[in-house]
Amino acid sequence: MDESITLESVLSSVVRVTEQRSQQHLEESLVKTLTHLAGLEFCGICRPGLSGGGILVDYVAVAGRPALESMDETGDDPLLREALAVGASRFHVLAGGGVRRALAITDDHGDVGAFLVTLTSAGKVEQVGLIEGFAAIYRNYLAILRDAARDTLTGLRNRKTFDENFSRIVASSRHLAVPFHGDRRAAHLDGEHHWLGIIDIDHFKRVNDSFGHVFGDEVLLLLAALMRKAFRVEDLLFRFGGEEFVVMLSPTTYDGAGAVFERFRSIVAGFAFPQVGKVTVSIGFVRILPEDLPSVVIGRADRALYFAKANGRDQVRSFERLVGDGHLTDEERSGDDPELF
Ligand code: GH3
Ligand code: MG
Ligand code: MG
Repeated sequence: MDESITLESVLSSVVRVTEQRSQQHLEESLVKTLTHLAGLEFCGICRPGLSGGGILVDYVAVAGRPALESMDETGDDPLLREALAVGASRFHVLAGGGVRRALAITDDHGDVGAFLVTLTSAGKVEQVGLIEGFAAIYRNYLAILRDAARDTLTGLRNRKTFDENFSRIVASSRHLAVPFHGDRRAAHLDGEHHWLGIIDIDHFKRVNDSFGHVFGDEVLLLLAALMRKAFRVEDLLFRFGGEEFVVMLSPTTYDGAGAVFERFRSIVAGFAFPQVGKVTVSIGFVRILPEDLPSVVIGRADRALYFAKANGRDQVRSFERLVGDGHLTDEERSGDDPELF
């Protein structure tokens, strides 16, 4: 072991890395700390994927000098290609000396989600133990972060992660914004947008009262399973608490969003819940615009949901449609928006 690496320096590095509360900060801190501690020439975390015949390497955090010499003339990375093919850690001793290592970061199912890539330059002793130790800490910490983002009963994303996901999705949706003249919400309902829907179980209190909480929980679990089946993998599913669920739809048209929510409503209505029998849901949904705040979007969807509840339940209502039909007013936009006048 390198004499400059003391037990204290390792411990304080671990403390620094595990202080981070978001995945991105954890990854940045880890590559920086490990590069410094193990005297690496390069350290990075990447999520490689196959694309066509080659491999697509997307580094999410890097420190030190990129190991360009390890790539062949096509920009392909033979080490990562090999590690990805076997789904395990691999290392290459480079022609001029030095070691390049790709450590597989697996999830609970053993699937490789990422690689920690290190380069120790020629003439240096590779600190394999340290590198592997930090990879293990990273693996464990990712699992904790993943668990913290999920609802324990249903496994859906929880409310805590909603704001984080919301900003990311809204930021990525800016290119979807269409030029507008006048009221951009009323106009241009065509085109593709993100949509947010709130799903609330009808008379759920009765389920608990008649069958008990255990059967109530079973209904919540089955509903979450129906959601996973009915929506696409790109759609984000949350349990907001109680018997309230939120879906953020990946871009689709107004008609598409309405059809998806309606299909889900009808699947639930037609499903025979063991013991409990028939359960229905009401859904309110709204378009997400790039400048919208999460609280405003939730508020609008909630008002559409409330309308559905007040008008017979077991139905899907769109905020835009209710505003257009004069049942609701777009109050958040009045007063402060000169484009309305
Ligand atoms: P509405 O159609 O107006 O939505 O009626 P509701 O009875 O579904 O609405 P309300 O919000 O009054 O009741 C929600 C109930 O959900 C209250 C509570 O007993 C139950 N609940 C909340 N969280 C849980 C949970 O985690 N498990 C179970 N079993 N029940 C829960
Ligand atoms: Mg309810
Ligand atoms: Mg409720």
